[in-house]
Amino acid sequence: MRPLIAGNWKMHGRLADVQGFAQAVRAAARHTDLLICPPFTLIDRFATALAGSGIAVGGQDCHPAPEGAFTGDVSAPMLAEAGASYVILGHSERRYCHGETNARVAGKAEAAMFAGLTPIVCIGETEAQRDAGEAEHVVRQQLMHSLPEGFSGIIAYEPVWAIGTGRTPTEADVAAMHAAIRAVLAEKLGEPGKALKILYGGSVKPGNAASLLALPEVDGALVGGASLKAEDLLAIAAAAPRG
Ligand code: PEP
Repeated sequence: MRPLIAGNWKMHGRLADVQGFAQAVRAAARHTDLLICPPFTLIDRFATALAGSGIAVGGQDCHPAPEGAFTGDVSAPMLAEAGASYVILGHSERRYCHGETNARVAGKAEAAMFAGLTPIVCIGETEAQRDAGEAEHVVRQQLMHSLPEGFSGIIAYEPVWAIGTGRTPTEADVAAMHAAIRAVLAEKLGEPGKALKILYGGSVKPGNAASLLALPEVDGALVGGASLKAEDLLAIAAAAPRG
């Protein structure tokens, strides 16, 4: 499987940042797929700046409905029209800051697929849940209830306590969780579940990328803070094994 390195810019980035970043990532040789998920305001600009490069652009959320009276929301068809081909859904910052439930995430994933976007559904346990020995159970429940029937997309395993903290699980813990996720995907989705990409996310940096990306069932990375610097994102991509 060709690895995917996806950058989640969160609420960072202004118009002035687009050209330089796009030029830097366009210019670099790469053996992975690359995806940039900027704020909504920059999707169209990034799509234009990266046109023809093979580097994809994605959103960070979408509404389950295609349109309607939903102040402040953006729909999946709107993202697609702006030039996105992926959308991150159910990020822990959405689940915990915006109260998003598994059912809500499933509705968004369905809308994304219907609009022709590839959903990246995020799952992951809190530190308290891991300490209580519940990590695999929590992740299983999220997978069982955040993925709609016939889900076709990507899973990002992001332990909540590893996001933006500089802390990562042990390699053994990442490998064990990715194996558990693969088993749930196969159970829930059958044969297609065996072919979906599972990304690891949570404090991936140039210095730890090679060891994390070499683990079995780790098919790429979802990168937050380190994706804001083109050179760091490219160093992470360069550290990925050749698939
Ligand atoms: C994220 O928010 O998806 C993330 C993985 O962030 P960071 O890389 O900064 O931990």
